[in-house]
Amino acid sequence: MTEFEAYFSGEKIYLNGRKCVKVGETLTKLLSKPTGYYKEVLLFAKNYENRLHYPEDEEEAYNSESFFQEAIKFYAGVEDVIMRLPPYKYLEVVGNRLQDTLNEYAWAFHEYPKMSVLDDEDDDIDYHQHFYVRFGTEDMEDPDMLNEIYTLNDKLKKLAVEMRTYLEDILRVEYAFTAFLERIHSRNRFLTNEEIADTLAEFEDEKKLRMYACDYLRTSGSIQLDYKRLRIKEKTELCEHYKFTSLGAFLYIELFKGLEMHYIPRKCSYCGRWFLIEAGIYSEYCTRPVKGRDDGKTCRDLGHFKKYSEKIANDPIWLTYNRAYKQHYARLLKKKMTQAEFQEWADYAIKLRDMVEHKKIEFDEYYKKIRE
Ligand SMILES: [Zn+2]
Repeated sequence: MTEFEAYFSGEKIYLNGRKCVKVGETLTKLLSKPTGYYKEVLLFAKNYENRLHYPEDEEEAYNSESFFQEAIKFYAGVEDVIMRLPPYKYLEVVGNRLQDTLNEYAWAFHEYPKMSVLDDEDDDIDYHQHFYVRFGTEDMEDPDMLNEIYTLNDKLKKLAVEMRTYLEDILRVEYAFTAFLERIHSRNRFLTNEEIADTLAEFEDEKKLRMYACDYLRTSGSIQLDYKRLRIKEKTELCEHYKFTSLGAFLYIELFKGLEMHYIPRKCSYCGRWFLIEAGIYSEYCTRPVKGRDDGKTCRDLGHFKKYSEKIANDPIWLTYNRAYKQHYARLLKKKMTQAEFQEWADYAIKLRDMVEHKKIEFDEYYKKIRE
């Protein structure tokens, strides 16, 4: 269910060779969804992973129907999450897999609770809704039947592992990817290849502090790569064609491709929501219109203004400049200075401010000169 293909061409990704998304888009969308709640779901998934098999003793046989009903409901819930979130919401995935798998072995179950295995009322059932155990432990001595049951158990195990892996992958987005991306953005600019390498190595070094699979920045499942031709409309493109067995494998590749191509998710410093920085200009602000304003101003517009205002309010160089500007402007209003003299001073003041900002003069000298 979670395996899919993706064709990478430049900044574009064609999911299963069709739906086109940008590099980093899927990760950005997943980062925007709160997933902390899945931590509890993951505990259930691990529990089911240990218990999901054809009943092996009398107690399990007795509880078979109620256990499988609970498990079917649980995995349908997980499948529902998978189908609602990208990338799977763009792919044609089929749910209800536990019930389908059990139905492949329909002969091993009764549709109705039985007092005796001789009853055959439900021989004409095509698709089971209920899973009462058909065989007692003594029947399990037939090697062929035992083999079949082992195959069923393998399939159940595979399904349970796949669902647990998905939950770990989605939690990894919140726990590992968020933390790693915070470091990537700590300098508020694109990092060089060397800086990314160092950031990654430092992040990896902190492994000792981590306990769960979802705290590690790593892939899950497997990745297979070959090169393929993709025809989209009239165009033909040579693509890197990947086969992923899990979401985690895709996200891992997407993150590092994004870092390389400057398509990087980041949290907006103005509204706090995730957005995708797209190649070209680094910005810490998104371009969404700010809520509650009718002038169409975006986070990027207001964010830069806010940053500028904060700078003026806190930076001694700018504070000094502003005070001096106000004093000189007052002189102009009181006609103690001509327009030309004021203009000359204003140009001089900017030059002085630039010099002190670039450390060409000391602050004391700047402070004295600008106030003259
Ligand atoms: Zn924003």
